[in-house]
Amino acid sequence: MSQAPAKAIFLKDYLPPAFTTKETFLDFELLPEHTIVRSRLLVERNPKCGVPSNLFLLDGNELELLEVRVDGQPLGESEYQQTATSLSLEIDKDQFVFECTTRIYPDRNTALEGLYISGGMYCTQCEAEGFRRITFFQDRPDVLSVFTTKITADLDKYPTALSNGNLVTRTEENGKVIAEWHDPFPKPSYLFALVAGDLICQEDRFTTQSGRNVTLQIFVEQGNEHKCDHALASLKRSMTWDEEVYGREYDLDLFMIVAVDHFNMGAMENKGLNIFNSSCVLATPETATDDAFARIEGIVGHEYFHNWSGNRVTCRDWFQLSLKEGFTVFRDAEFSSDMGSRAVKRLEDVSFLRQHQFPEDAGPMAHAVRPASYMEISNFYTVTIYEKGSEVVGMLRTILGADLFRKGSDLYFDTFDGQAATTDDFVWAMEQVSGKDLTQFKRWYSQAGTPRLSVRRAFDAASQTLTLTAAQHTPETADGSKKEPFVIPVALGLVAQNGNALAIESEDKRFNAAQAVWLVEEAEQTLVINGIAELPAVSLLRDFSAPVLLEDDLTDQERILLIGNDPNGYNRWEQCQIIYKKLILQKVDAEFDEALLKALKQSLRQLLQDDAVENAVKAELLSLPAESEFLQLVPNIDILSVEAAREALRLWIATELFADFEQMFGSLESYSDYAFEPEQVGVRKLKNTLLEYLLLANLEQYQGIALAQFEQASNMTDQLSAFKYIVQYGDEAAANKVISVFLSQWADDVQVLEQWFRVQVSRSDENTLSRVKTLLDHELFEYQNPNKIRAVIGAFAMTNVKSFHAADGKGYEFLAEQVAKIDQMNPQIAARLVGPLTKWKSYDLSRGQKMKAQLDLLATKVLSKDLYEVVSKSLG
Ligand code: ZN
Repeated sequence: MSQAPAKAIFLKDYLPPAFTTKETFLDFELLPEHTIVRSRLLVERNPKCGVPSNLFLLDGNELELLEVRVDGQPLGESEYQQTATSLSLEIDKDQFVFECTTRIYPDRNTALEGLYISGGMYCTQCEAEGFRRITFFQDRPDVLSVFTTKITADLDKYPTALSNGNLVTRTEENGKVIAEWHDPFPKPSYLFALVAGDLICQEDRFTTQSGRNVTLQIFVEQGNEHKCDHALASLKRSMTWDEEVYGREYDLDLFMIVAVDHFNMGAMENKGLNIFNSSCVLATPETATDDAFARIEGIVGHEYFHNWSGNRVTCRDWFQLSLKEGFTVFRDAEFSSDMGSRAVKRLEDVSFLRQHQFPEDAGPMAHAVRPASYMEISNFYTVTIYEKGSEVVGMLRTILGADLFRKGSDLYFDTFDGQAATTDDFVWAMEQVSGKDLTQFKRWYSQAGTPRLSVRRAFDAASQTLTLTAAQHTPETADGSKKEPFVIPVALGLVAQNGNALAIESEDKRFNAAQAVWLVEEAEQTLVINGIAELPAVSLLRDFSAPVLLEDDLTDQERILLIGNDPNGYNRWEQCQIIYKKLILQKVDAEFDEALLKALKQSLRQLLQDDAVENAVKAELLSLPAESEFLQLVPNIDILSVEAAREALRLWIATELFADFEQMFGSLESYSDYAFEPEQVGVRKLKNTLLEYLLLANLEQYQGIALAQFEQASNMTDQLSAFKYIVQYGDEAAANKVISVFLSQWADDVQVLEQWFRVQVSRSDENTLSRVKTLLDHELFEYQNPNKIRAVIGAFAMTNVKSFHAADGKGYEFLAEQVAKIDQMNPQIAARLVGPLTKWKSYDLSRGQKMKAQLDLLATKVLSKDLYEVVSKSLG
């Protein structure tokens, strides 16, 4: 590669700093051409540093240094060392005041890290290492400091000037606004935030369980003030939920959320001042789908929950990122489950994990939940850290039980409040309250990879025993981490051939219940179950009790039996998914097994007619596994043959169940008053799933119905579904018509426009790529806005399987060109966007080579550290 390779940082090299910054005073002067930042730091020796050292080391990136002082005395250039990324001095004092002044250029900041401008407002993004783009600082999470921030800005343009904590004073003089903020809670620099703009505020109140009155504010650009109700309601629900479920209360008098259009991620948990991607906070029934409402509720909860899991207790170093992210995802998933449909939330999360995290673990960027090394930490905000990290916390709860888990979380929060902790500390708390030795369990943190678990049955009629033999094996991963047996909690139950659930009575007397949690800890292990009269079907890994790839010895008939009779709803869906996968793979090779198709059809009809099954679950039962799941089952399988087989199965279902679907579609209610509540959400989800099948089976008849829905819908859920289906399956004239109608209806709405872009790239025909390129030239497309990049380029590569993976390799070429271009502006986004190409080894040889060729080409260019890490690892 044409540049000096970036260096890796290792967990084993962690050392506490010699000094720590106890208090931080920041003074921002927001001027038209640049910003001046004056900082005054109260520095002390760090009692946690074991080795004697006088080195005071500050991080800094792309800063113009104007002045440095120690204890009031200006330093000459020979009195400190400056590199491209640091400033340091040797100092023989126990306490001192360090001051410096820097100049920065927010309007040139296209990376969206540090202080930048989004749509005319100033905002910051400091996690993970953005604060060093604002001023020289110990920009590491184990340095906790009390921040006081003064902002001076032009009153006309920036009357709203916000930072963390409480507003101390706000004055207006000589056309300037001067605001001073103080946050009493010590925090690492990554939680710092500043916002200045001309914003409108929507306000509400919340009283905590101990009687604290909290003001809740959401700040948005003019014109968006009607889109805040759902986020405010979600915030209040989150606050109540965290009190009830975790005993955690909010700790400041003010909680603010700001919506910004230009944001690399979803949202950020800055203390007292969350900053959100506007697409993750703004919603009305007319402009946002039920899925968006659910996502907003989950993200508002996620960021709020970080106030304890992340802010009050933070991370010692970035290797511990999952300490806050895995735990907080677990918390927000439970919150969403309690607010909506628990069953659906779990199915969605499992599908997401298998579609995204399993491939990551099998690819070049594989890493453990607590990685051992990284080059660029921004590349480690991954599905492994977040979603697998959440699964690991979930397994701890499964093993301990809900009550002990809560005790463990209380002990964790109480012990480490105000500190920077590690994943070991978290597990320590769980060990303390349970008396369990979790040493082996911790391999889930240190070893990457998706374990393969096989479970086989042996039935002995004479002794009436069923013996289960489990074997686990974890393939090598790209990070080279060790693979020793994991502790795999297998939630299981038994279903007799007549459909009745059986009790589990194990020979060692550990289990006697309708459901047991079997801990598989060895490479191979058995469980003997007594009192079994005939061979039962075994229902394994209920609720996906561990993130593994399971292989069992159930027959097709037994799976059909479980689809109809398993008391565990998750496993009914899972058995259905397994049959779908089996049928699709049959079709890839030859033809569907007719008998299996018939049996499946009967099961589906039964489920659809069963009033005890939620509507939303019915919709999930009709959703086929994504193409990417097949690469895990059959390495190097031709992805387009999978796509074709999957389409054939969809068409078969659409045709065979047409009458049932028609009848159901007609009988489901249409609500005139939109509410985001489980019953309505379920009906809309099922109805729209049915509409898709009906269109597949009979376009002629249903295109008109879809068009009518598109035109008459009173909510975005129904309108967008109809829009999407017409664009994807409709004839060209109809597709073009809805594309232009939708644009004229929504041209002023940034959030809806994202969907307009996204839907168009999902249509697959001979013109797809040229349509995508045309969209990049559209006047409403902006390279500076990550949401638009994701909606066009990201959605094309991730969701349009047929066109992206077209045999000519043109899809790959397009993606690589775009990645190279975007890397010049926004390295974080470029490094994420290149993802689909990096899994080249999983695809068939010809595709894999074409993908790799594009990576080779990228590697000849000068790349950002972010993109360099991903490209070099995927070629290595
Ligand atoms: Zn988070």
